[in-house]
Parts: sequence; structure tokens; C-alpha cells
Amino acid sequence: MSNLLAINGGKPVRTKSYPAWPEYDEREREGLLRVLESRNWWANQGVEVKTYEEDYAKFTGAKNAFAVTNGTHTLEVIFTALGIGEGDEVILPDWSFLATITAIIAVNAIPKVVDVDPITGTIDIAQAEAAITSRTKAIVCVHVAGSMADMDGLNAIASKHGLLVIEDAAHAHGSRWNGIHAGVLGDAGSFSFQSSKLMTAGEGGVILSKHSDHAAMYQSIINCGRGEGIWYYRHIRFGGNYRMTEWQGAVL
Ligand SMILES: *Cc1c(COP(=O)(O)O)cnc(C)c1O
Repeated sequence: MSNLLAINGGKPVRTKSYPAWPEYDEREREGLLRVLESRNWWANQGVEVKTYEEDYAKFTGAKNAFAVTNGTHTLEVIFTALGIGEGDEVILPDWSFLATITAIIAVNAIPKVVDVDPITGTIDIAQAEAAITSRTKAIVCVHVAGSMADMDGLNAIASKHGLLVIEDAAHAHGSRWNGIHAGVLGDAGSFSFQSSKLMTAGEGGVILSKHSDHAAMYQSIINCGRGEGIWYYRHIRFGGNYRMTEWQGAVL
């Protein structure tokens, strides 16, 4: 058998071209028409986003999933929900998309950047521990294109120093660490559905939370600080409009 690379005249491993991205079929077409004709384009009155949240929680084994506008806002909402803000230091790896660090700055916290492990491309645990100070509140790890951060190492230093762990799993849908899905190993996990990610609805994001008692708080922050069962224009905490549309819910 020839060991020649295809570029040098050898047999190509792949004979068909890659499918066009994003892929879709009748399911997306039907879902989008279903939303159109239902006249419920808004998630607060629809079923598509809610159904998607339940499905993604089931798929990952998370207690809760909260759909959001994108994978930048997911991080901002998580930091807000976990009380990370002014004066708090947040440790993060130096290899990521810009949004990991800007989300920290957006909540007025102080990013502390450490290097990645050269083999996995994910946060170096020893360097993360060395960067901890009395002001450190959280460590954000980034699972790089499915390569998981060392979650055992990270959770060990986090519990030793009383820190929160947030997983930026923007491109790690379906990745697992010892059988447990990305996004359910830390205090909260963040995913993106922007066009270049493993799953896409054009834009979008989802938060997974380890803490079922945080569910009402996440829902409130995502929905302008509203509260369940109270007057629509009463806002009980700082939040924003981080809601996903029913179109995206149907596609996801
Ligand atoms: C894409 C990405 C984000 C941001 O997600 P958007 O949905 O584009 O806002 C955050 N973190 C990482 C690691 C990403 O790759």
C-alpha cells in the first residue's frame, strides 16, 4: 500500500466533499414554519425554547438549562448570578476567544490570565493555583474545540481555596470528562450556538447550572430581572434582556 499523501498523488482518505454548513433538513424547515404560524415568536409565550432547554438538560445530565442570546451573554449572566463583580479577580486561560475575558470586564471584575497546558490547550492547573490571591473569586476554564480542561485538578484547587468554577464550553457540546458532560462539572457551564460552533442556530447560547436552587435567579436575570408570579413591570434584581427567540429554540 502506498504511503503517499493525497496531495502527492496518493489515495485520498476522503472522496466526498464535506456537507455544506450549517446542515438542516425537514426538521428545521418544519420547526421554523411551526413558529411562524403559531404567532408565538417570543419565548415568554412559546414552547420551543422551553422544550429545547429541557432537551439539553436531559442530554447533558444537568439539573437546569437556560437559553440565552449568545455565548458572551451566558458568561455575563453566570458571573452576575454567582455574585462576581467589582474587586473580584477571575483567573482564566490565555487561549480562548475574546469573549471569555470581555465578559469578566463587563461585570467589573479583574481578569488574571494564566497560560495553557501545551498538550491539551486548556488552563494549566499549577499556574492557575499560583495566580490565586485573597481577592480571587472564580476560575474560568475553556474547553478548546472539545478538548476538556483537567476538571479533577481544577475542582480540587477550587474547593481547597473556596473558589467558583465556570466552564466556558462554547465549543464543547457533547464533550465529556470521566463520563460527565462539559458544563455540568463546575458551578456553571456556558455554551454558544453562533455559526462556527458544533451546534448552531445562527446565534444563541445556553447556561447549565449545578445548583438547582439558582434556577429562579438565572431565569430572572435573563428576563430583565422579573420575578415569577408578580406584576410584569416589577423588576426585583439587576438583569437584562438575554432571551433567545422561538426561531432559535425550534432549530436547536
Ligand atoms: C464563541 C465563543 C464565545 C462567545 O460566544 P458567542 O455566541 O459568539 O457570543 C465565548 N467563549 C468561547 C471560548 C468561544 O469560542
